[in-house]
Amino acid sequence: MHSLRELYRIGTGPSSSHTMGPQSAARQYLERHPEAYAFDVTLYGSLAATGKGHMTDVAILRVLEAQGTVAIHWEPTVFLPYHPNGMKFAVVLPDGTLADEWTVYSVGGGALSEGNSQPITGAATASVSGDTVAASDIAEPEKPLYPLTTMTEIMHWCQETGHAFWEYVEQCEGMEIWDYLHEVWQVMQEAVERGIDHEGILPGPLGLQRKAPIYYTKAKGYKANLQSSGLVYAYALAVSEENASGGVIVTAPTCGSCGVLPAVLYHLGHNHTFSEERILHALATAGLIGNLVKHNASISGADVGCQGEVGVASAMASAAACQLFGGSVAQIEYAAEMGLEHHLGMTCDPVCGLVQIPCIERNAFAAARALDANFYASLSDGQHRVSFDRVVRVMKQTGHDLPSLYKETSEGGLAKLQ
Ligand code: SF4
Repeated sequence: MHSLRELYRIGTGPSSSHTMGPQSAARQYLERHPEAYAFDVTLYGSLAATGKGHMTDVAILRVLEAQGTVAIHWEPTVFLPYHPNGMKFAVVLPDGTLADEWTVYSVGGGALSEGNSQPITGAATASVSGDTVAASDIAEPEKPLYPLTTMTEIMHWCQETGHAFWEYVEQCEGMEIWDYLHEVWQVMQEAVERGIDHEGILPGPLGLQRKAPIYYTKAKGYKANLQSSGLVYAYALAVSEENASGGVIVTAPTCGSCGVLPAVLYHLGHNHTFSEERILHALATAGLIGNLVKHNASISGADVGCQGEVGVASAMASAAACQLFGGSVAQIEYAAEMGLEHHLGMTCDPVCGLVQIPCIERNAFAAARALDANFYASLSDGQHRVSFDRVVRVMKQTGHDLPSLYKETSEGGLAKLQ
């Protein structure tokens, strides 16, 4: 497993696989061809099917058009063998022929692969209104940082050493990870605070009104118990609406699912007054959960459906909440397992290919479910039948069994009814 820096990527929405990944690929290709004056880009499969709604072309053009002309071809019915989110870059020579064709895949969470299951070395930066911002400027590590890659192994380590999950993260990543997680937490909080104050309509043909400010205001009027649920909804809506409008967010684990974890942590940090240090520890544990799924299955909606995005986000937030409320290692694992298990089979069918319906509302529900999973696990002694590792394997198989209609192609389900 690689660094949490590869999971928590700071960048612009609306889609880690459809905007962050392709934009990062375009930037890397441009670095290889500083003299080129024309580019030819082909988008395949899911990237082509929903790329217009996700603004994939805009993300690529922002990078390549700064240097030359760009032709983009859409091939929604062509699925390359390695992954549904394939793309091919080429330089157009003066005689019109193509040179240095580069096939690359956006495999989820903003990560890229050339098809050998290995992430690509290079920088991932985000662009806001055409300006490159220093966000997630990451060189992928040469070697995986985490020697233990299953929950079972990590739980044994915790039991043998007496340490917590977040201490395993610290041991693998070094103390520097806390500076990065501090930055991640700042960006998450800013996204919540921008979102609950940002009125208006989201971009795109659906004409969806932003709901976070209304939910926030109304929730404040309720008594403590209901207020708590209402605020969590509002915070998740806030971040997801920021994402849908191309705002700066943190993939957790993806753009489409970026509202769940910040909502839960913001609520616990601001309304339950957990210290920042403990919030960062919870962020580390949540990252470990996301990393385990990313390594052993997938966090890409195009690969396994929304269970891999919002389902995983809910599992991450469940574990984070359980840790903050003093859960044992077994209870935290149970909370994460439930967060994922009860999202098994969840399809990805975004209406018009936009990360809006069902994505935004789904983040709010998944955040509330994470708090339920924490409470449920806290009432238990941590003993349960279905392990986290098992539910990850089941999620992977379920995802592969799902027809492509329900994996970010916008050809089935809710997308079809529009
Ligand atoms: S439905 Fe889920 S997986 Fe699909 S784009 Fe929306 S958030 Fe992502």
